[in-house]
Amino acid sequence: MSTTPDPDVVPAPSETIRLRSVLEELPAYVAGKPAAEDGSRRFKASSNESPFPPVAAVRDAAAAGLEVTNRYPDAAAHELREALGTKHGVDPSQIALSTGSVAVTGDLVRALVDQGDEVVYPWRSFEAYPILVGSHGGVSVQVPLTAELEYDLDAMAAAVTDRTRLIILCTPNNPTGASLSTAQIEAFLGAVPEDAVVAIDEAYREFHDPATVAGTAGIFRRHGNVVLLRTFSKLQGLAGLRIGYAVAHPRLARALSQVTVPFGASIPAQTAALMSLRGDVQQELDRRAVWIREERSRVLSALAEQGWQMPSAQGNFVYFPLGEKTTEFAEFADRRGLVLRAYGTDGVRATIAEQEANDLLIEVARAWRERRPA
Ligand SMILES: *Cc1c(COP(=O)(O)O)cnc(C)c1O
Repeated sequence: MSTTPDPDVVPAPSETIRLRSVLEELPAYVAGKPAAEDGSRRFKASSNESPFPPVAAVRDAAAAGLEVTNRYPDAAAHELREALGTKHGVDPSQIALSTGSVAVTGDLVRALVDQGDEVVYPWRSFEAYPILVGSHGGVSVQVPLTAELEYDLDAMAAAVTDRTRLIILCTPNNPTGASLSTAQIEAFLGAVPEDAVVAIDEAYREFHDPATVAGTAGIFRRHGNVVLLRTFSKLQGLAGLRIGYAVAHPRLARALSQVTVPFGASIPAQTAALMSLRGDVQQELDRRAVWIREERSRVLSALAEQGWQMPSAQGNFVYFPLGEKTTEFAEFADRRGLVLRAYGTDGVRATIAEQEANDLLIEVARAWRERRPA
């Protein structure tokens, strides 16, 4: 594609501005590496995306939305919030939308956290949290997971101080896969002050074993300091359209609408999200979730047979706690056509993707165990 150059282009000036010093200490968000486009067999299993293209009706709804993009979106997103309100049994005004639930998490920080206030969350967890907290002037308090990569809720409760404004529970936890039960979340809520907001990030909820998934709707109804975070980026396959939301109690919902980027959820994002909620589309998405769970079991059984001890996995991904071998394993997989996500010296996350990619993951894991260590 060619663009016309700006006739006023001159050599770049020196940039004499002052950036906030906090930005130097923050990691930049590392996006999942794309699979190479050289035609070789390569799979991207590094961003927890859906391996399925959008459901046809959803794609058509997004396309219909494109017809009217000369107009601003409905800032109040009436239809979508109405539908989400019905789904979650709340008033539509309690649905706070933005450009993905990462953006809504940023809105939470801006609505709740003054300079120096604290945000408590487990670690390792979602890489966006330290960036969202730090860039808005908050202080991250990261509470290590246990040796088994489970939540240490006692330590998290103990980490709460009178500066704690926000606590994030990511369940299932990205990237480690652990999840929390209703009883665990209830006990935790009983142990933390009621003026700290507890955000439950459920980006991977649909992939959880439905028999044991936490009853967060009931938890939300029982606790005035709980907010739920949901996205259309994972099972719904709309990562590229950017739309997610919070289910919040009225005062917080109003605060979120005050701080959020105006007109954040675009028209195609709104129309596609709305279509994702239609009964028949929901049924198709449910079938996809079942398929992903079955693939996850198949991968985990194969890995167990190879002798791997994997942590519990309730998202659309599995986690290899490889410590110092993390980078080596990711590069080993990369050379064999599988792009995974490496986390420092902690471990590697592999998305449950299309079947061939999952087969390749099993192959790579076997080859790794059978390799002759250098
Ligand atoms: C993918 C993900 C999200 C959703 O991000 P979007 O901004 O909605 O695309 C939220 N939380 C976690 C933990 C995630 O992994």
